[in-house]
Amino acid sequence: MRVRVPGRETDNCRATAMPPESRHRRPLLVANWKMNGLHADGLALASALAGHAAAGEGGDIVVCPPATLLFALRAVFAGSAVALGGQDCHTAAAGAHTGDVSASMLADAGCTHVIVGHSERRAGHGEGDETVAEKAAAAHGAGLTAIVCVGESAADRDSGHALTVIGRQVEGSLPDGAAPENTAIAYEPVWAIGSGRTPGPADIAAAHAEVRAGWERRFSGSGAALRVLYGGSVTARNAGEILAVPGVDGVLVGGASLSADTFWQICRAWR
Ligand code: PEP
Repeated sequence: MRVRVPGRETDNCRATAMPPESRHRRPLLVANWKMNGLHADGLALASALAGHAAAGEGGDIVVCPPATLLFALRAVFAGSAVALGGQDCHTAAAGAHTGDVSASMLADAGCTHVIVGHSERRAGHGEGDETVAEKAAAAHGAGLTAIVCVGESAADRDSGHALTVIGRQVEGSLPDGAAPENTAIAYEPVWAIGSGRTPGPADIAAAHAEVRAGWERRFSGSGAALRVLYGGSVTARNAGEILAVPGVDGVLVGGASLSADTFWQICRAWR
């Protein structure tokens, strides 16, 4: 597989691939539907995925649909291997925040996870690390696992500052009380999201190592048990090789999660 980084050509994934049997934990496979899916389409997509998941072997799967679909999908995924997640939550538990959704509302709707700090929230809603940490704390307070997103821009990478930015975001976006049991971190280079471009395996491995190092600096302890996901233009074609990169414990998938068949191929790619 040829993979490209802006301004830098990299090797193929096999160079640093780790055999699947040497993985030490089941991967976390997260579908981010973003602002896609009316009721009928969302139900059809979820039903098809639940059907696939009934066969097992898909890792730990979380679907994050638009908030309007949460209650409907809760029924579809009940008793299946698929868990439900929110795409964002407010920092507050309740109050005068028109248009927002709280972490406890997500939990009430059947969510076990919530994405916070997605680059589209950071860029489109001006959310910085401090806000992201507050959102992660709100998620923890509601009993949810926070999937905290970090990742460098193309300019950061081209100027050689990618790892510095990643480390700073990790340290700044995690609240006190974060632990591998209630937190996962998604490394999502901004330039890779929705672009069809992915970093090379060496760059992914280095970024994930920096995520873990940032965690260790933040908490003065081991990040070995932390699940670190890769996100950005994951497809059925590249998922197996990305999931085999050392330090990759799962994937966060946007566009390719809008097809049940494709997302299921991704879910099975680690085996
Ligand atoms: C995302 O939105 O988190 C994402 C990774 O999107 P895509 O898979 O479409 O690049």
